Amino acid sequence: MIVILKKNPDEKQLNNLMAWLENLNLSIHPTEGQMHTILGLVGDTSAVDIDLLRALDIVEDVKRVQEPYKSANRKFHEEDTVIPVGNTQIGGDVFSVIAGPCSIESEEQVCQIAKAVKASGATMLRGGAFKPRTSPYAFQGLRGHGLELLLEAKRQTGLPVVTEIMDLSQLKLFDKVDVIQVGARNMQNFELLKELGHTGKPILIKRGLANTLQELLMSAEYVMAGGNENVILCERGIRTFETATRNTLDLSAVPMLKKMTHLPIIIDPSHATGISWMVKPMAMAAAACGADGLMIEVHNDPKRALCDGAQSLTPEAFDDVMQAVNAILPHAYKMPKGM
Ligand code: PEP
Ligand code: MN
Repeated sequence: MIVILKKNPDEKQLNNLMAWLENLNLSIHPTEGQMHTILGLVGDTSAVDIDLLRALDIVEDVKRVQEPYKSANRKFHEEDTVIPVGNTQIGGDVFSVIAGPCSIESEEQVCQIAKAVKASGATMLRGGAFKPRTSPYAFQGLRGHGLELLLEAKRQTGLPVVTEIMDLSQLKLFDKVDVIQVGARNMQNFELLKELGHTGKPILIKRGLANTLQELLMSAEYVMAGGNENVILCERGIRTFETATRNTLDLSAVPMLKKMTHLPIIIDPSHATGISWMVKPMAMAAAACGADGLMIEVHNDPKRALCDGAQSLTPEAFDDVMQAVNAILPHAYKMPKGM
């Protein structure tokens, strides 16, 4: 980290600053320039409050030389992380397809969808039991009962299951869940992330509606700092000025995250576009640019879905997407080593 001081800094304030930085176990390397004095800080700067430093009277600017995320950083972990999940894995040579309804609605619905997506090649089943809805009057999910139905679909198909947690109080119900999803709206629920860091379970973190890639990685860092290295990142569209699609799918996040981190990255074209016919081209594009997998909403009767019907694929449309994606995978972009 580099601290650029203002011209002729007050000596007392400078001494205070030096003492504070030394207290953080950092060694300070000053360089006198013609215009400014620069302090080079060497050591673990992750605990330094950069905004506080920048606000000091004698400080002109502060620049980080190293990223604030350590465990998630590709620089310190060159190999891709591969996360075993049930009879499959996320990352590495497997292209994971997590498919299923937005919300679990009934045993018949979730089991029927599970069987169909499995037959088309999905590697995991998704389904929401606790739903983060914009309106308190909208269907909120079947909650604990929904989880039981999801686990019944797991029993019937053998597919590992992915479902969203919204609050720490729900964690005790997630024992048999294979992958715990942290939704976009909870990406920066730091207390939740910290607690999930103490579970051994794979945690799928969706990028927030208005969060940078670095912020997404800092959320992953929260889980990893607790000792749980099994984190999967998910780009699901961000909010921009565009209104023709539900969100804007940031596919450039895939190669950029591949450079920044060793964690697997999956794309959710359903929530990103909000439109069922757009799922296929965006899923193909995600496969082409090197994503580790997809999360796709599938419903046996999208018109009657209790949540997100407009973006849900029928099982037949999902099968068509799988074939298109499988045809692209042998040609997918692979990040050159050492990028
Ligand atoms: C979901 O996957 O069901 C969901 C609510 O997604 P997001 O958090 O990306 O909106
Ligand atoms: Mn949904």
